[in-house]
Amino acid sequence: SSLYRIDGWGAPYFAANTSGNISVRPHGSNTLPHQDIDLMKVVKKVTDPKISGGLGLQLPLIVRFPDVLKNRLECLQSSFDYAIQSQGYGSHYQGVYPVKCNQDRFIIEDIVEFGSSFRFGLEAGSKPEILLAMSCLCKGNPEAFLVCNGFKDSEYISLALFGRKLELNTVIVLEQEEELDLVIDLSQKMNVRPVIGLRAKLRTKHSGHFGSTSGEKGKFGLTTIQIVRVVRKLSQVGMLDCLQLLHFHIGSQIPSTALLSDGVAEAAQLYCELVRLGAHMKVIDIGGGLGIDYDGSKSGESDLSVAYSLEEYAAAVVASVRFVCDQKSVKHPVICSESGRAIVSHHSVLIFEAVSAGQQHETPTDLKFMLEGYSEEVRNDYENLYGAAMRGDRESCLLYVDQLKQRCVEGFKEGSLSIEQLAGVDGLCEWVIKAIGASDPVLTYHVNLSVFTSVPDFWGIEQLFPIVPIHKLDQRPVARGILSDLTCDSDGKINKFIGGESSLPLHELDNNGCSGGRYYLGMFLGGAYEEALGGVHNLFGGPSVVRVLQSDGPHGFAVTRAVMGQSSADVLRAMQHEPELMFQTLKHRAEEQRNNNNKAGGDKANDKLVVASCLARSFNNMPYLSMETST
Ligand code: PLP
Repeated sequence: SSLYRIDGWGAPYFAANTSGNISVRPHGSNTLPHQDIDLMKVVKKVTDPKISGGLGLQLPLIVRFPDVLKNRLECLQSSFDYAIQSQGYGSHYQGVYPVKCNQDRFIIEDIVEFGSSFRFGLEAGSKPEILLAMSCLCKGNPEAFLVCNGFKDSEYISLALFGRKLELNTVIVLEQEEELDLVIDLSQKMNVRPVIGLRAKLRTKHSGHFGSTSGEKGKFGLTTIQIVRVVRKLSQVGMLDCLQLLHFHIGSQIPSTALLSDGVAEAAQLYCELVRLGAHMKVIDIGGGLGIDYDGSKSGESDLSVAYSLEEYAAAVVASVRFVCDQKSVKHPVICSESGRAIVSHHSVLIFEAVSAGQQHETPTDLKFMLEGYSEEVRNDYENLYGAAMRGDRESCLLYVDQLKQRCVEGFKEGSLSIEQLAGVDGLCEWVIKAIGASDPVLTYHVNLSVFTSVPDFWGIEQLFPIVPIHKLDQRPVARGILSDLTCDSDGKINKFIGGESSLPLHELDNNGCSGGRYYLGMFLGGAYEEALGGVHNLFGGPSVVRVLQSDGPHGFAVTRAVMGQSSADVLRAMQHEPELMFQTLKHRAEEQRNNNNKAGGDKANDKLVVASCLARSFNNMPYLSMETST
């Protein structure tokens, strides 16, 4: 397991067990009498229809562990509680979950339920998000915040104001100065006293990839000039008491507490200024940015890792706010944060399968290198290569291989060399390269997955996630490989891995010859953003999803929800096609063919029922490869 740094990025939830499988400790600690969950057993149970209780779901598969989610929330809360208590801070922490990180209904419902006792709320950034947040928070703690961020039109603002009528604790955070007039106007029309926040554009700048929203030229938030104007206007209309929250977000994956403290202190100064100007300030909302350690290095040297723990993060925030407020004799505000990545990343694991491993180095067994048909130059190159290979002269071999190949490709392009002759030379060269130990040892493993659907951030921003075989961890990997997905797109591959590696240590695929062996891989820490951003490139839809809880049963777990991924019909519908009509068109075409063929003697494969059931299966199954399940 050290090959894959599991202890670094996986603790305390994931480890390798004595069977060589990934085990999951969803509560983050041993909760006897419960045993750790063997991830391979979960995968077998939900994918194999032949085992007792097997569900027969197709891969790829997302396995969600709501207990991990609960543990993340509780750890975040207790880290702030501890910092507040130990530093004698005069108020409390009350976080919100930004639903954009993963809008899955059950994740949001779980967060509202798990966080209800400590007033945990939600953050929305669009009209559909505010609708879902409002309806979910109806079951939550009435004090929980519903922070309304993002670009707003009158419909969005009306919804947020309507939320207050429903006694939901909505806060309209101004991202643009123009939103203020709408808020003033609509709140008067709807006869609602709004709670207003404002998002400040801080000077503190996070320099990593995720920091592009920060700094003076950042996309979001109000400048100091705009803040002063907003305060004046609110005062003129007698609504300065409505301004109660100051928000900022300096970017995701903040690398160090030094940068964090810098940003929080700047915002705390602004907060104190707003108090001085007469606003009834109550809350400082420090946005997202609480990072996680994707590569397990805890170095904070790249976007992949952060150099602090949850406790250190909370301590730095509380200390910075406290210091500034004490200096200015301002009452300590409620501290709110909008941590998304840190809450949802760990709780879901994407499972997929390697279906084949491309053998890159073929040896010329059936292709003879026939010197007769080749030119004088080619024959000379061949003699030279042969001589160098016999002498074991590696460098000359590589030189002659290049020369020979180049000459033959030119010959092929001119039409003087046949495809068999070119193949003969290619085979010979590969054989020599392998014989002198100069071949590229990296294999291409084809995986039953779409990078664009399930790991869009790898394609879009080169974000890396830990990828690990979820079994065979007690066996030494035999190869190094890159992962190539099912899409017909050259970007659909994963060739960068945590630890700065350009390939992954991988095991041999037993199913390349003998049947039954399957090779399962897991992508971890992808619970935030990946599902929400994933597209349907090549019309591969979303994976199957199961929800797994620890239980007293014989396997130590129970599957409480299972949903098959999007079928071909579902993804076609999403692009305005009509699968029912398509089905009829194809059936009709088969009928016409059948009529023609009947005259010529009939065709069993075109039997009415065979065609209908084959088409129905194809429309209703997932677009991924369906694999025979092992017995
Ligand atoms: N709040 C705002 C305004 C954001 O833009 C984001 C994401 O970038 C978040 C919260 C969540 O950030 P994170 O996932 O780093 O916690």
